[in-house]
Amino acid sequence: MAPFDSPQYDLVVVGSGFAGSMTALNFLEQCKKDGKQGKVAIIEAGKNGERCGASRWTMAYLRLDRNNKFDSDWIKEMRLVSRGLADEDYCRKLEHLVPDLAQYLLDHGVQLNHHDEKNVLLEFKTDQHFVFPEGGGNAIIQNLFKHISDFSNCDVLWETAAVKLLTSDRGEVTGVKVRKSDGLLYDIPGKNVMLACGGFEGNREMLAKYVGRNTHNLPLIAPGLKYNTGAGINMALEVGAGTAGSFDGMHCELVDTRATKPDAVVWGHNYGIVVNRDCKRFYDEGKRHLFATFEMIALETWRDQNQVAYFVTDATIMNRFRPGWVYDTSDKDPIEANSIPELAQKLGLDPDKLSKTVEEFNKACNDKPFDLMALDVRLRPA
Ligand SMILES: Cc1cc2nc3c(=O)[nH]c(=O)nc-3n(C[C@H](O)[C@H](O)[C@H](O)COP(=O)(O)OP(=O)(O)OC[C@H]3O[C@@H](n4cnc5c(N)ncnc54)[C@H](O)[C@@H]3O)c2cc1C
Repeated sequence: MAPFDSPQYDLVVVGSGFAGSMTALNFLEQCKKDGKQGKVAIIEAGKNGERCGASRWTMAYLRLDRNNKFDSDWIKEMRLVSRGLADEDYCRKLEHLVPDLAQYLLDHGVQLNHHDEKNVLLEFKTDQHFVFPEGGGNAIIQNLFKHISDFSNCDVLWETAAVKLLTSDRGEVTGVKVRKSDGLLYDIPGKNVMLACGGFEGNREMLAKYVGRNTHNLPLIAPGLKYNTGAGINMALEVGAGTAGSFDGMHCELVDTRATKPDAVVWGHNYGIVVNRDCKRFYDEGKRHLFATFEMIALETWRDQNQVAYFVTDATIMNRFRPGWVYDTSDKDPIEANSIPELAQKLGLDPDKLSKTVEEFNKACNDKPFDLMALDVRLRPA
């Protein structure tokens, strides 16, 4: 076999999601501005044309207002959920940079859809507004790559997985050792290396180590995450990097398990009740706003309810919200029935138990007009 004679790169970027493609394109553009050649390699484990990683799967809902300014309450939310441990300088920096970042995306061909939300109380300080790119995160990557491909000084190495940072005897990072699709190892020398290869969603061993029991049952939230095996974290730790954040946390969502399309999130758990197989409510659906709770209820469903829960609501809610993003992400229609016992039967649940739970919940209702824009904590689960 011919030896792999890699050029020396000024920058080696590992991963081609948002982090990797933004780093590569920024570097290439800056080099051009400065009149420098600046040779870049993007190392990507996935195949060319494949939706590898997270960025190519997300809808990328963004907490931006009408002027693309970031939700200024986000820092408070981070303080709250981290119980004061969040790096607030980092949060402030992010808030400061976001309008320029949104402009950068617009300048590079990404279309941002602006949405005024009438039904769901958002906790963001964006005046009931949020933004999402047309075509989701995949469209962001496609647009960034269109610009990257204009540069002849950038090589994209697909089906190439970084396995180790190369270092000098003194410990300086000098490049990356990669495994190519032939199964063999090669060295890619680089003056600078950016690790942008995601988390460890696709690594059962690391999931069990950090997140804990039952992670072997955890389905991937998107197929492209199989490539995110924690290689970047392990490579960095191996050369003495520090850590930040909580390794035992994760992003999870309640999804319609009948759906054939990915990311079939059932967002609006607040506008009804969620019961387990025993027809019991296990999470206070109205505890906080939708975006503050959708991950927590999913986490409890996975951890304590054997990954199964049923969202039960009525036609008033469905008619109010559909069509729309809240209950339209699944390609399967909801299961409908004319009575609670009939619904229980269709779901394979105990009709008496489900009727009892719904009756108890409904007893807490009063005659005040229903207000979707206010939290209404009337009956907490036992
Ligand atoms: C279904 C879903 C919905 C989401 N919804 C939202 C949302 O609404 N709003 C929001 O802000 N965020 C959302 N997120 C989170 C967001 O998408 C991620 O935080 C973001 O895309 C991470 O970008 P990244 O570049 O760090 O990682 P990724 O996009 O995962 O990129 C990592 C890349 O590295 C590659 N790679 C992995 N290991 C190696 C290796 N050893 N060598 C070479 N390449 C490697 C992978 O193939 C991948 O292409 C969502 C995520 C998912 C999956």
